Amino acid sequence: MIIADKNTKAVDLVRAALDRAKECEDYHCFISMNEARALERAREIDERIAKGEKVGRLAGVPYALKDNYLSPDGVTTAAARMLDNFPSPITATAVARVEAEGAIMIGRANLDAFAHGSSTENSYFGPTLNSYDKSRVAGGSSGGSAAAVALDIVQFALGSDTGGSIRQPASYNGIWGMKPTYGTVSRYGVVAMASSLDAMGCLAKSADDINLVMSIMAGKDPKDSTTIDDFWTRELEDAKPKKKKIGIISDFLKDGIDPEVSKTVLDYAKKMEKAGYTVEEISMPIMRYGLAIYYIIQPAEVASNLSRYDGIRYGHRASDTTDLDSIYGKTRDEGFMPENKRRIMIGNFVLSSGFYDAYYLKAQKARTLLVNAYNEAFEKYDALLCAVAPAPPFKLGEKTDDPLQMYMEDMLSVLANLAGVPSVATPAGKSKSGLPIGVQLIGPRQSDQVLLNIAKNVEEAA
Ligand code: GLN
Repeated sequence: MIIADKNTKAVDLVRAALDRAKECEDYHCFISMNEARALERAREIDERIAKGEKVGRLAGVPYALKDNYLSPDGVTTAAARMLDNFPSPITATAVARVEAEGAIMIGRANLDAFAHGSSTENSYFGPTLNSYDKSRVAGGSSGGSAAAVALDIVQFALGSDTGGSIRQPASYNGIWGMKPTYGTVSRYGVVAMASSLDAMGCLAKSADDINLVMSIMAGKDPKDSTTIDDFWTRELEDAKPKKKKIGIISDFLKDGIDPEVSKTVLDYAKKMEKAGYTVEEISMPIMRYGLAIYYIIQPAEVASNLSRYDGIRYGHRASDTTDLDSIYGKTRDEGFMPENKRRIMIGNFVLSSGFYDAYYLKAQKARTLLVNAYNEAFEKYDALLCAVAPAPPFKLGEKTDDPLQMYMEDMLSVLANLAGVPSVATPAGKSKSGLPIGVQLIGPRQSDQVLLNIAKNVEEAA
C-alpha cells in the first residue's frame, strides 16, 4: 500500500487515481465520482503531514466504495432506481473506520442492484466490464470494486459478500478478496441484502493490504448487535496454522466444474505441498446442496429486507398513482430490477404458509447439517480448498436470460456464507485464453488471518 507521507502527497495519490479512473471510464467501474471532496480531504491530510501531525494508517490512500455503503459523500444508489437519488442520512461504520485512518473515497463502485447477482449486469446503470477482457463480465455483485482495483485505479475497495460477491469478482479480475467471519465487520449503514449471510469485506492486490484494511474495519459496533469482539489483532506473520493440513473438497473437482478450473485448484494444491502443507482430498456431499439452501434462505431474507421500499418513507416514488396500493405497486415495479423482483417472489413463496415447512424450514435444517460438516472437517484441517467460481469469467449477456445458469455461478461461494465462516479468494492461475482463475481457502470462524497467512505463504513459496 502506498501511503501519504512527507515525500508522497495525498493530493498526488488522489489525482493519479482520478486520472486513471478517467482513462478507464469505458470499463464503467463507478456509478458516481467523488472528485471535489476527495481532493479536499487529500489537501487536509497533506496539511497535517506538513505540520508534523499524526495521520492514520491509510493516510491519503484512494479507495472505491461499493455503492451499497452509506457515506455522506454523494448518494447511495445500491445500483437501483429505487435509491437513485438517496442522500445518506448516516455513515456506515466500515466507512467511518477506514476514513478515520485517512482513506479517501474517490468514487462509488458499480454493483448488481441491491447486490443481487454474479455479473454486475443487474445494475440499473449498466454493467462493468472485465479488466482482462472487455467482452466479459467483471463478476458480481462487487464488479465495480474488483475492476477498479485490478485496473490500478485504487489500492483497495470495499465490498459486501452475501454469497460470493467479493470473492467471485476478485477471482474474475485476478485480485484478492476477503469475506470475513460473520460479524467481523459492522453491517450498520450498508444496504441490507440477506441479513444472516451479509459480510462486509474488502478487495485488494495482496494479503498484506487485505490484512491492513480488515484490521481497521473489524471489531464490535454497538450499532450492529451481531458484531463480535475484535479478533483481527495479530501481525499476519504470527497467524500461523496449527496443523498445516489442508482438505480439497473433492466434490468440486468434476461435475459442473470447468476442467481448467479444476486443474488450477490441483496446481494450487501442489504449490501448497511445496510450501510445506499436507493436502488431502475430502468428500463433503452436503456441500452440493449449498446452492439450493442458499436460494431459499437468501430470497426469504431479501423479500423481508426489501419490503421497506414502499415509496412512502424514502427513495423513489412513482408518479401518476391513484391510491396507496398503486403507490406501492408502481413504485416497486419501477424501482426494482427484474432480478430483485424475482427474489422477492421466491422469498415470499418459500415463507408463505403451506410452503414454509417444505422449503424455508427444511433449508434451515440443511444449513445446520452443512455447518456440522464444516465443524467436523475443521477438526482435521486448518482450511478447505476449492475454486471460487465453476468457470472463468463469462461473456456479457451470456447468462442474463437464464437466471438458473447465473445462480449456478454461486455454487462454491455461497457455502462460506451459509456457515458464517471466513473465506479468502486469491489469484491462482490463468486459463489458456489468459483469463484469471482464483481459488478460495475456507476456515473455521475467526481463522481469517490464518487463511491470509497460508495464502501469502503459498504465494511466496511459489
Ligand atoms: N451471486 C450471489 C447472489 O446473486 C451473491 C450475491 C452477493 O454476495 N451479494 O445472490
